[in-house]
Amino acid sequence: MIGHRMPESSDLMASVEPKLQQVFMTSQPVLIAAATGTGFMEGAVRNTVNKKALNCVNGAFSQRMAEITAANGKANEVYEVEWGQAILPEPVAARLASGEFDAITLAHNETSTGVASPVGEIAKAIRALPNGNEIIIIVDAVSSLSGAYLPFDEWDLDVLFTSSQKAFALPPGLAFCAVSQRAMDKAKTVPNRGFYFDFIDMNKFLQKHQTSATTPISLLYAADVQLDRILAEGVEARIARHVAMRDRTIEWVMSKGFQLFAAPGYESTTVTTAVNNREIDISALNKFLRTRGMIISNGYGNLKGKTFRIAHMGDLHLADLETLFAAMDEFLG
Ligand code: PLP
Repeated sequence: MIGHRMPESSDLMASVEPKLQQVFMTSQPVLIAAATGTGFMEGAVRNTVNKKALNCVNGAFSQRMAEITAANGKANEVYEVEWGQAILPEPVAARLASGEFDAITLAHNETSTGVASPVGEIAKAIRALPNGNEIIIIVDAVSSLSGAYLPFDEWDLDVLFTSSQKAFALPPGLAFCAVSQRAMDKAKTVPNRGFYFDFIDMNKFLQKHQTSATTPISLLYAADVQLDRILAEGVEARIARHVAMRDRTIEWVMSKGFQLFAAPGYESTTVTTAVNNREIDISALNKFLRTRGMIISNGYGNLKGKTFRIAHMGDLHLADLETLFAAMDEFLG
């Protein structure tokens, strides 16, 4: 193991940083933490909210963001839509126009429901408001970044974070977060940003190709290699592969007489949630799939038994899905 204050460690960080920026489609800093996505959920509100956050909720993870906002002592209001629906631009912009808020949080890809909200359109509607530039747009892309189109700079987002273990197909333990100049400037005005996820401090270290605490060297070696693979495939091609896997999964789900849980037009490119309207035994299905070295996910929380989720992200290809569907066909008969 190399020491995390040795030049070799800085060389590794310096190799990873520009590749991450390409995947986030940004020229702004992408912070790196030895953490999972939840760490940046906390860091995001902690660094950018002075007045009040509007927490958009359409599933379990966006709900967690609302809980985290309150748990950090920040004033917040929850705007909730029925699970399975997307967050849409108009109602969000209408609420933000009140001037009460200085931040909004949303989960781009609600992993609990398989819904992808139209982040680009939401950001556009927000920036068109007279107070639009005062709103910090915080987007959780834990289960979608690198498997969905999320151009950070083009969409003028402020905080966009992800975890290593989802669409990046890396081991868990690393989290990445792009931060805009607007959000960095805002952080300077926010007291009690905390220590581990203080964006100003994290960015100071990043500029030296270091992390403020011990750098997770072994995970960064993995990230360095995987980012090379991602860029060799091409970011756009990788996203197109996810879109094709989404479309094929929807086709299979419908062909078996299941319905989709996600509102039409907002189906995630990385995870498909099917309604279990045939009332199959999902645990028995998984027991069978395990004998073939595969597994799908039961519904999340209250949706357990009522829905099931098929992940199609990271380094999976259409051929892997065909193997899965053949086994599921065999089980369903
Ligand atoms: N947000 C979403 C949308 C998620 O799917 C998850 C985890 O599945 C999280 C946040 C939490 O991420 P982590 O477990 O990496 O902290």
